[in-house]
Amino acid sequence: MKKIYFGLALLMFGGAVLADMESIKTQAVESIDRQSGQLIELSDQVWAFAETALQEHQSAAVLADYAEAQGFAVTRGVAGMPTAFTARYGAGKPVIGIMGEYDALPGLSQQASVVKSPLEEGAAGHGCGHNLFGAASLGAAVAIKQLIASGSLQGTVIFFGTPAEESVSGKNYMIREGLFDDVDVALAWHPDYVIKADTASSQAMVEIRIQFEGQAAHAAYDPWNGRSALDALELTTFAINQLREHVKPSVRMHYTITGGGDVPNVIPEHAGLWLWLRDSSHDGVNELIGRVRKIVEGAAIATGTTGELNVITGTYEMLSNIAGARLIQRNFEWLGPMQFDQGEIDFARELQKATGKEQLGMNTTAEPFDDNPGEPEGGSTDVADVSWKVPTLQLLVATAPIATPWHAWPVVAAGGMSIGHKGMLYAAKSLAATMVDLYVDADARAAIHAEWLEDKGGRVYKPFLADGPPPLPGQ
Ligand SMILES: [Zn+2]
Repeated sequence: MKKIYFGLALLMFGGAVLADMESIKTQAVESIDRQSGQLIELSDQVWAFAETALQEHQSAAVLADYAEAQGFAVTRGVAGMPTAFTARYGAGKPVIGIMGEYDALPGLSQQASVVKSPLEEGAAGHGCGHNLFGAASLGAAVAIKQLIASGSLQGTVIFFGTPAEESVSGKNYMIREGLFDDVDVALAWHPDYVIKADTASSQAMVEIRIQFEGQAAHAAYDPWNGRSALDALELTTFAINQLREHVKPSVRMHYTITGGGDVPNVIPEHAGLWLWLRDSSHDGVNELIGRVRKIVEGAAIATGTTGELNVITGTYEMLSNIAGARLIQRNFEWLGPMQFDQGEIDFARELQKATGKEQLGMNTTAEPFDDNPGEPEGGSTDVADVSWKVPTLQLLVATAPIATPWHAWPVVAAGGMSIGHKGMLYAAKSLAATMVDLYVDADARAAIHAEWLEDKGGRVYKPFLADGPPPLPGQ
């Protein structure tokens, strides 16, 4: 009954719609405030677990347990990944999805301190702030769930627990599984040192494994019987480095050598290269793959070995959405600036000092709206692949000091203390408020969808993904 009455009010009184929207958003923010202790605890737990791609067993478990305790229908281990899950609540349209990541980066273990000092030497750390990412998104999903339960909103909310962003691109497997098929609009955010409605794209990227096979022989007694896989690999890296001069400035190529023989007195029979290629579009990346394939063929011919190039996974470039970003911008303005106390500003300045940056402290207000961001900065995300499946909105919130290096220890440090917690809660509120817009305002949803269709321009999304299951560790 309440729902019908509310629907009539929406139809009849334009002014009442705004007032209702405002009060629903206020309830969403109050929900985040009520959850703040639990969200901080979740974030800190995931920060301390610091589990890398597809190993996020404890991290996924605490987030999924929280969702279940809050009344969501949780499905664990989706899309062939034990650490992926979905949490669903509500019925009918619209279906709004929100993504949460929780994987850490190898080797970045760090205490929540202003001095570079690992928690555990050589262990992983949250150098991209994904401990905050998962907790904030889940907090927003829970706020929306409560509003659906109380009848203030109608529709379905799905939290996507998306593992393995830093490597593997877990979301691609979740897309392939059809998990995003009924979603109308998806949201994500990312920890940053700015507060921003993200209108920029991101780089398309592929992960490639190149393997050479040669012939072993004694390196001094009968080297003429040998064919060195390592020689082929060295020719390959040499040619890739020559190629750098003949690609667009938007291209990034980086690699590590995963195998190059065991001892110098045996001619290496096996050699392996792990190569990532990036450009501002997936077309650009496809062209690069073709050029590297030729290099591998040439290196194999030159050395009498065989070479194989396999695209393991990758991501598309992000289809950003200006109509959706405008909603986000308005919600940043509605929420007002972030607040940091003197102790937090001092902490930020110490981190800046330790990394040779200007001691500017923290950003607290949203960047001006940028509807013409140009070429993407370096970096890729599998959120972009979701953006080719459903219209996707993304925001950035300050969880680390201005200009400190990313994928580095200061991000881990700030993400494990109150600076990161405040960023996480602010992100949760921004996301929840934007989701309220998406449930209530059908015109906004239609505008977002129309822009997305136009951007996609009829192009077919064909993910960079090898056939078969996700590459689980130890398999
Ligand atoms: Zn990240």
